[in-house]
Amino acid sequence: MTAAICVVGRKNSGKTTLIERLLPELRARGRKVATLKHDAHDFEIDLPGKDTWRHRQAGSTTTVISSSSKVAMVRSTDRETPLDELLRLVDDSCDLVLIEGLRRSACPKILVHRPEVGGPPGVLGEVWAVVGDETPETNRSATRIAANDVKALADLIEERLLGGSVQAPAWNLPALLAEASRHHGHICPGQVLGVRMAILGCERLGIYEPKSSKRLITFVETDRCGTDAVQTVTGCTLGKRTLKFVDYGKLAATFLDSETGRAVRIVARESARDAALQFAPDEIDAHAAQLRAYKALPEDVLFSVQDVRATLAETELPGRPHGRVVCAECDEGVNNGRELAVAGRTLCRACAGVPYYQEAEDIVTTQKQKSEAP
Ligand SMILES: [Zn+2]
Ligand SMILES: [Zn+2]
Repeated sequence: MTAAICVVGRKNSGKTTLIERLLPELRARGRKVATLKHDAHDFEIDLPGKDTWRHRQAGSTTTVISSSSKVAMVRSTDRETPLDELLRLVDDSCDLVLIEGLRRSACPKILVHRPEVGGPPGVLGEVWAVVGDETPETNRSATRIAANDVKALADLIEERLLGGSVQAPAWNLPALLAEASRHHGHICPGQVLGVRMAILGCERLGIYEPKSSKRLITFVETDRCGTDAVQTVTGCTLGKRTLKFVDYGKLAATFLDSETGRAVRIVARESARDAALQFAPDEIDAHAAQLRAYKALPEDVLFSVQDVRATLAETELPGRPHGRVVCAECDEGVNNGRELAVAGRTLCRACAGVPYYQEAEDIVTTQKQKSEAP
């Protein structure tokens, strides 16, 4: 069964806030974490009037609601559900379940202690850590961790519950470069920068197998060499809607974890060009110097990295097309809400504005005349 630890403490001691801050830290370490909340009173997540609520009112004992992105279940019970039964509901791929509450369970505990809201509550099982400014008398043996030190807390959880930190898998740079050159058609400095930029982006988000899911969305800012390499490493493509092209003419990309919402933008530094010449002054030209230097120079010499917010509209997400209409002018089908309403008519963007192509009537005429000529 998945490893579990309870975050316990008095009401308003900061349990939820701690869990909120601990989750991104564990995610960044490559951990897949589930959470479980115990409510001492009753809760209602079914909204009165909704279909599932009506099913339950009419007598269903278990109601399951599902969509392409989530599944939820409400099951009526006449007793507390035992913890092992609750943990079985969590999918096997999770490394850890963080439980808010359940202070009387056998799981190890993290006690959030704030004397202002009262002394520590009675707790069964071992208290591994006390989070706060002081340790209560009853928990002298626990490790004390400052309220803002989620790194230390994540270290302790990994150490004691998960058998040490996960070794981030090493990226095979030569193999990825070979794959990138095959896809792109040649090896060039842009391939090296693109491959290393994509590796760095994935690492910063704790995504070590980007091709195995549509979790990673990449925004690329140029339609030059480096972008092909970013595609090779990330597996993001236009057709999967996981690659977004924003034409800024920059060798830069933003990597977005669509599960957590975290995003980093990475841009190749202008100074990297000079750094390459200094690194390999004996090469015959700048191209050769860059090719060698970009494989070897440290990441912070080559790139600058910033945490950013990058949001995607519902109509931009991977998955099934969002609606389809037919243009009232040209009768061509339009997907994903790309149509425009013009004077009460639904038009495609080509018909509503100036298309990027013009019908080649004169070319057709000329070719026809040629073929008809004796
Ligand atoms: Zn190239
Ligand atoms: Zn049209």
